[in-house]
Amino acid sequence: MNQWSMYMNGQWVQATSGERSEIINPADRSVVGTAAYGGAVDAERAIHAAAAAFKSWAALAAKERAAYLNRLAELLEQHKEELAGLITLEMGKPLAEARGEVAISAEYLRWNAGEAVRSYGKVIPSSSADKRLLSIRQPVGPVGAITPWNFPLSMAARKLGPALAAGCTIVLKPALQTPGAAVKFFELAALAGIPAGVMNLVTGDPKEIGDKLLSHPAIRKITFTGSTAVGKLLMKSAADHVKNVSMELGGHAPLIVFEDADLEQAVAGAMSSKFRNAGQTCICANRIYVQRSVADRFMEQFKEAVERLVAGDGRVEGTTIGPVIDEKSLRKIQFQVDDAISKGASVVTGGKRNERLSGYFFEPTILQDVNDTMTISQEETFGPVAPIYLFDTEEEVINQANHSVYGLAAYFYTKDLGRTIRVYEALEYGIVGCNDAVPTAVEGPFGGLKESGIGREGGPDSLADFLETKFVSIRI
Ligand code: ADP
Repeated sequence: MNQWSMYMNGQWVQATSGERSEIINPADRSVVGTAAYGGAVDAERAIHAAAAAFKSWAALAAKERAAYLNRLAELLEQHKEELAGLITLEMGKPLAEARGEVAISAEYLRWNAGEAVRSYGKVIPSSSADKRLLSIRQPVGPVGAITPWNFPLSMAARKLGPALAAGCTIVLKPALQTPGAAVKFFELAALAGIPAGVMNLVTGDPKEIGDKLLSHPAIRKITFTGSTAVGKLLMKSAADHVKNVSMELGGHAPLIVFEDADLEQAVAGAMSSKFRNAGQTCICANRIYVQRSVADRFMEQFKEAVERLVAGDGRVEGTTIGPVIDEKSLRKIQFQVDDAISKGASVVTGGKRNERLSGYFFEPTILQDVNDTMTISQEETFGPVAPIYLFDTEEEVINQANHSVYGLAAYFYTKDLGRTIRVYEALEYGIVGCNDAVPTAVEGPFGGLKESGIGREGGPDSLADFLETKFVSIRI
């Protein structure tokens, strides 16, 4: 049985209270380990360590910080199987997806290592002949990072990579359900020789640790990935300290299939966008709009593909869809399906929890005759349910697609170039996939509009969220 500890100032430690929490495998509800259940006191110790290490880490040449990150990336790849196994064990995704998560985590570190040496400043022509003006970029300071359970490793890497590259130290609080992959990540960071205090890990009480990270003056920035509800709470308390925040929050992605789409490609895209990670990503399609003239053909192929999914333990060869994270999540998904049915939707396939399997499984589901009065049309499902909406015109579907408080990801399928440009320009989303259901890439800026967040992770400007600009005016 795994016994996971916290890591601060280069030491593995237990919670001051001695408390531990149990970690459950959602595929069979077995206890797979226990983790230190830290609180405010532990968070404070970690913050002190991050603050003490900040000056010397920031003072390293960018090239040296990049070398540490590249070494850590290599170690992630060398321990890919172990890391992927931990991810699957604690949150249930199929091993093939978990391996992909390890691979992209290493890439986040490498990309940011590359950007570390490019945080250029500017020389600005002055309007006074006797002045010289510069702007320089410096690390924002020690960072508090809070990550979710759906990508236990890559969300940590996506925050740690740019923060460390920019010269910030960090305190990471992973999700309560998934400390294992983070613990292994920190073991590898120690092996990579990253100096004590630069990376600190606190597991345990989300509210106590979160409150401490937000209220402590040494923490200069909060980077969060999680639900919009928690993100709003964090932004409110960040306001009390005027603390810099980056927020990657919920989504409600539309996926539009136009009549001129390559239908096979659109079906494959809908499958991967909707059912990857059992529907538990913030960029999963949550509304699938199909143009009426191709609806029957699309539905036939889509239903066939959904019914081919193999649900089970992600460690078993051949499993293509795992469980959802817990009982609460199962209940929420069932509520959305029942609510839709009570308002006129009908079930094409699935529709209920899977009673044959002992874990938290919901049957891959398609709903038709869905409309905007249903909860599923507004709220994130975070589960394997695909609601289908029919539409007639481009203008109508763009209005419907944009009718959301969220603005993270949107997808559409068409072969028409003019339409491609019109539609990607009109969609009010931070990420748009044109004939592409997997738009996540380390080299692309990831982030949302509206209530989906603030800031971007990855891409050519990936360090920006972790740098402050200082203006220097010199009279000569
Ligand atoms: P999800 O619905 O994906 O679990 P959450 O927003 O609840 O999303 O969780 C994302 C992260 O936020 C997790 O690390 C969780 O422990 C943390 N979290 C939850 N509530 C709070 C809180 N009040 N303060 C700080 N962090 C929190």
